[in-house]
Amino acid sequence: MKRSGAEELRGAEVDALILGGGINGAGVARDLALRASSSSTPMRILLVEQNHFASGTSGKNSHLIHGGLRYLKNFQFHLVRESLRERATLLKLAPHLVEALPLLIPFYSWFDRFLYSVGIALYSLLAGKHKIGTIEFLSAAKTLAIEPKLERKGLRGGAGYYDCRVESARFVLENLQDAYSHGAQLANYMRAESFEKQADGWWLVRLHDRLSEESFTIRARKIVDTMGPWSGEKDKLRLVRGSHIVIPPVLDSGKAMAYFGTDGRILFLIPWGGAEHNKVTLVGTTDLDHDGGPDQVKISQDEIDYLRGRVKFLFPDADRTVLATFSSLRPLVRDDASSATSTSREHRIWNSDDGILHVTGGKYTTYRVMSEQAVDLLTHEIAPPLEGLHLTAMTPLRAPRRPDDSTMIRFAVEQEMALSLRDLLYVSTSWGYERAWTRIALRPFATVMGERLGWGAAKIEQELQSVDVPQC
Ligand SMILES: Cc1cc2nc3c(=O)[nH]c(=O)nc-3n(C[C@H](O)[C@H](O)[C@H](O)COP(=O)(O)OP(=O)(O)OC[C@H]3O[C@@H](n4cnc5c(N)ncnc54)[C@H](O)[C@@H]3O)c2cc1C
Repeated sequence: MKRSGAEELRGAEVDALILGGGINGAGVARDLALRASSSSTPMRILLVEQNHFASGTSGKNSHLIHGGLRYLKNFQFHLVRESLRERATLLKLAPHLVEALPLLIPFYSWFDRFLYSVGIALYSLLAGKHKIGTIEFLSAAKTLAIEPKLERKGLRGGAGYYDCRVESARFVLENLQDAYSHGAQLANYMRAESFEKQADGWWLVRLHDRLSEESFTIRARKIVDTMGPWSGEKDKLRLVRGSHIVIPPVLDSGKAMAYFGTDGRILFLIPWGGAEHNKVTLVGTTDLDHDGGPDQVKISQDEIDYLRGRVKFLFPDADRTVLATFSSLRPLVRDDASSATSTSREHRIWNSDDGILHVTGGKYTTYRVMSEQAVDLLTHEIAPPLEGLHLTAMTPLRAPRRPDDSTMIRFAVEQEMALSLRDLLYVSTSWGYERAWTRIALRPFATVMGERLGWGAAKIEQELQSVDVPQC
């Protein structure tokens, strides 16, 4: 992938300008580019992202492609069924990034055992022919045989079921790579500053290139807002913060764990890190209304204490040293729900009065179908022959040769537009989350990146300072 910068874009005219390079922006860009190239329809598509791709919610989530067992509690059967169908589709389209993940649920009351056993059976029923793996109901002894270090006191049994895990930042990158190979132009570190409708119905859009610090204008026929938590339609959104901590590995079985607390929140413990997913355990998430803006998202001490407390309850002897943390926002469509947890995860796609197409809400899991619906609306207006040309459910994501660790830095810079140390550590790889780094240990990475990107000593220092490292 090659970045389009200010020089190339100044004064350009595009048919579709997609704002935001998270999973929804990447999905829309890929879907539209595929439709245009497969039908040889000339279509100028540009996606701009203010930071690096997948640096928002799409790279900082629970990394699950799932139906969402907990949504059954709110009777969101449509969402669960749609997600389970998409789970099967994504598993087929990108098996190198989406893989089946066995999960274990321990029960600490007879009531939970009854309730969640019914839930899992219903989950499996809703999956229908898209079911993966088998479900099993386990005695306490069998549950402990799988996870021997699990708290024994009060354990009433367990259940096993399957969902999928995804490398969520890389999956965004690969959708973008595919969009690019079908003709879309991409610009990371390019912020959309303002837009103004012109007499001929086109938009005059002011972009700011954060690399060259230049502002300039382009013209766009149609704007698609996939800015997630940053969406222009702020009053329609409820921003809910979810945080994760990364701790040393606590799971013996290689299975992930899902645990329902008394407050209705679900906690996931997921084996994570490295190709074998065994370096660390990812623990999350919280679900709290977020008071600040989308640029100020950080885990609070209360969230850390809550997550560590849950781990202590489940695995009393586990090492709960926090190696890394990350937080992000769910841009949920506002409804009347009293709590952040019960607010619907359904998506909404609509043209606002000024004609901007907004794509928001939903889940990572449902991005493909959301993108398809958005592109149907868009093509209805600007390229009617492409409406209804649904290709993404049967077009596999082409797998670029995955580099090993020794060539990853070069690959990230040359193929994935990584332009900062953070891009390498948190988007192209998850190295940044896999241990408690010190700046000394990170220096070789910054130096090698610097050689490729022409950084001087001051820039290398600046890059090292930009990475959060635990205070010693
Ligand atoms: C804690 C947490 C865990 C989750 N776990 C799961 C899960 O396991 N499975 C699942 O299915 N779903 C999960 N979700 C939901 C899912 O991750 C989100 O629904 C999805 O990632 C939203 O994607 P997006 O593209 O809309 O937003 P984002 O990924 O946030 O992308 C929006 C992008 O727009 C960019 N942008 C903003 N303003 C501008 C501008 N002016 N110019 C250019 N670019 C701009 C931002 O920088 C950002 O990169 C989780 C959500 C949270 C918060």
